[in-house]
Order: sequence, then C-alpha cells, then structure tokens
Amino acid sequence: MSGSRMKLELTRVVQGRSRLGVLKGLGKTGQHSLEVPGCLLYTHLGTVPHLTQDTLHTLSPLPCVTQVNLSNIAEHRDVLEEFKDGFRKFAGLHDTVLYCSLHDPAAPCPTGYTTNKTVSVWGSGGRIELTVAKFMALQKTVQADWYQSMADGETWQNTTSRKRVRKSVDRTLAHLDECLLVHQSSQELKGVEVFGVVEGGDILEERIRSARETAKRPVAGFCLDGLQTGSVDQALRIQLTSAVIKELPEYKPRLMQGVGRPDEVLDCVDAGVDLFEGFFPFQVTERGCALSFNFDISPDPERAGRAPPAVLDLNEEDPAGGTQENGDVNLEDQTQMTHFEINLKDTRYQDDFRPLVNGCGCYCCRNHKRAYLHHLLVTNELLAGVLLMIHNTAHYHSFFGALREALANDKLDLLTRRVLGGRSKQKE
Ligand SMILES: [Zn+2]
Repeated sequence: MSGSRMKLELTRVVQGRSRLGVLKGLGKTGQHSLEVPGCLLYTHLGTVPHLTQDTLHTLSPLPCVTQVNLSNIAEHRDVLEEFKDGFRKFAGLHDTVLYCSLHDPAAPCPTGYTTNKTVSVWGSGGRIELTVAKFMALQKTVQADWYQSMADGETWQNTTSRKRVRKSVDRTLAHLDECLLVHQSSQELKGVEVFGVVEGGDILEERIRSARETAKRPVAGFCLDGLQTGSVDQALRIQLTSAVIKELPEYKPRLMQGVGRPDEVLDCVDAGVDLFEGFFPFQVTERGCALSFNFDISPDPERAGRAPPAVLDLNEEDPAGGTQENGDVNLEDQTQMTHFEINLKDTRYQDDFRPLVNGCGCYCCRNHKRAYLHHLLVTNELLAGVLLMIHNTAHYHSFFGALREALANDKLDLLTRRVLGGRSKQKE
C-alpha cells in the first residue's frame, strides 16, 4: 500500500475548504478517474436497483466507481469463493472501479450487536457476524479495487454515552490495524486501496482523536461515519466534519457516509468533503417520488446544448407538507419525503401532462408524462420504479456536475440559492 496509486489532484480549493479536483489512478491498472466533489454509483449486489446494465448506460455521465456493500455480499461468500474470479465478474460488471463498503447506506442497521472483536452486517437472511479474519477473507473473495476498513459505527444515536463512543474509536483503530496487517501480507490484495474510518459519535474530542490516529495509518482515504442524515443535525455535522477535516492530509479523499440530501451535500462540500454515496435517488424512487429541484446556474439557460432550468414550479406545491424548511433534519425518520422531490402518487398528477422535469434529457422525461407515472404507481406497475430510477439517477448525478461547475466558477452561493429554491438558509 505504500505504493498507493490513488491520487487526489486538486485544481481549486475555495475559501480554504471546498475542493475541486480529480481522484486519479483508480482501478487495478490505474486507468480510471473520478471528479470531486463526486458521488459513487449506488447498487444492490452490483446492480443499480430497477435498472439493467443496458438501461443504466443510456445515462451519462455516470461515475466510474460502483459501490457494493458487505451487508449484501457476506451471505454469498461460499458461492464467491467457489467462483474464484471476484465479485466484478460474478455480477457481470465490466469497466468499473469497485468500492466495497461495510453497510448498505440505504438500509437501517440494527444496533447492539458489536463486540470487541466483531461487527455485524444484515443481509436478506439475517445477521452475519464478522471478525477481522472473516472480513478480510471476504475482501480477498470480493476483490474490490478499494474497500472500507472494518469499523464499529454504532455510536450515531445521540443518546450514546461518552464511554461507548471512546470504545468505538478504540475498536475501530484496532480493527484498522488488524486489517492492514492482513492486507499488507496478502498477495490477492496487492494494489487494492483501504479507506480508514473516522468515528467519534457527536463528541468533538473523540472525532479529532479518531481522525488524527487514522491519518497516521497507511490508508488511501477516509470514510466519515456516524454523521448520516437522521443522526445529527446539520449544524453539528458541519462543526464535527470541519474539525475532523483539519486533522486529515490534504491529498487524500474524504468520503461522507449516509448523507445524500442536496442541501446537506452542499454544506458538506463547503466543509471540505470530496465524496458521497449515491443512495438518495434510490430512496426517492422507493417512495414513488421524482427529484425536481433546480440546480441551473448557467447565465443563459437557452444556450445551445444545455437544458433550460430543471425547475419545478416551486409555487405549485409544497411537497413535504409545508411544515419543514430545507435544512431541517427530522431525527426520527430519514426516509421521509424532502423538499427536493414531488410525490407522483398524489391525485393532482393524474391529469398532469408535463414531463417530470421540464428540460430534463433523461429517457423518462423525453417520453413520458407525470400522469402516466401516476398511473403506473397507483397500479403498482414495475415500470414505475424503472422510469423513476432513470430520472432520479440522471437528475442527481447532473446536480453533482453542476456542483463542480459552480466550484470552478465561484458560483457555489448561487447554486445553493437555486437548490434551496428561494428558501433562506437557516444558519446565515
Ligand atoms: Zn428526467
């Protein structure tokens, strides 16, 4: 790992925090790169939910990094061992960089099951307990290009005691050291990168200690765990993230786990986060909704080759019920509808003959009307999920494109105003 190929080249750092750049040297031969701030491709067992590879590749540009997780994979270990050629071939994936995380960011993970020596993941068949030995055996079988080290992340609830938080930081560092020991002596994992995990719950000193100690280890980058939507409010997340980032080396990427809402993504980027997990479009799709927030920052929206504002008429409705401002976090439920989407199941759409988003170039918006999506949803047709996932994935990844463009052109404030749709940002 001393010869880590993964390299972050920064082209711009705005106000000493937000970073624009390219993560280079990805994949076994180092030929892939990913622009940051960026988002990974969320999958279940290598497949974007609802979409075949053919359908998926009608969307562009897609990130070159596919995320899989051990919650999905662990129960297939025997089959994968017998198959021998790694998960990428097993799942029919070809030209993609594979990143293996511990948990599924879109699935709730029951707490109370970690010990000093084990963590648990939850697959369709129930709980699977992993020791470092089992975890590393899985990594050798999966053969990802890059994986998250084993971590005790059970401290995201704000009721967690200081003692428990300290224990989680200690355990996570011990797991990392053990993982690195196995990793460095393994032929199968040569050229594979490891990300260390920063824990520390909502306790500032523990966050700083976790970051400082993890940064001393030979890791290629960092996962920031335990700050997901629903666990801390936005202001505290940013305070903790900023403190953590001060302890991390500049030229290694920082991946924020469990944060996908556009407003929260913007704040994290402002604090210096580089990478996000792309599960948000899937959550939106699962509740029968379509992403419809505006991120157009071009001076002339009519200019050639560019879609006009991908805007929903914000006065037409208040999708989340009008009781919550953008930026609020409901600590009880991270699966509830947000202000960034419209609920196609609503009867108001049964005779709405507009596309999901005016000007969106995705297959769904080019070919179908809101009324048709409404019909598919109320009759439980499988095509509803397919079309919504196409649009939501396209919309979300385009938002990341706009975010990079905004950073390149000093327009992050403008983008934030667009995304918040005229609502004021609370903490300013
Ligand atoms: Zn669309």
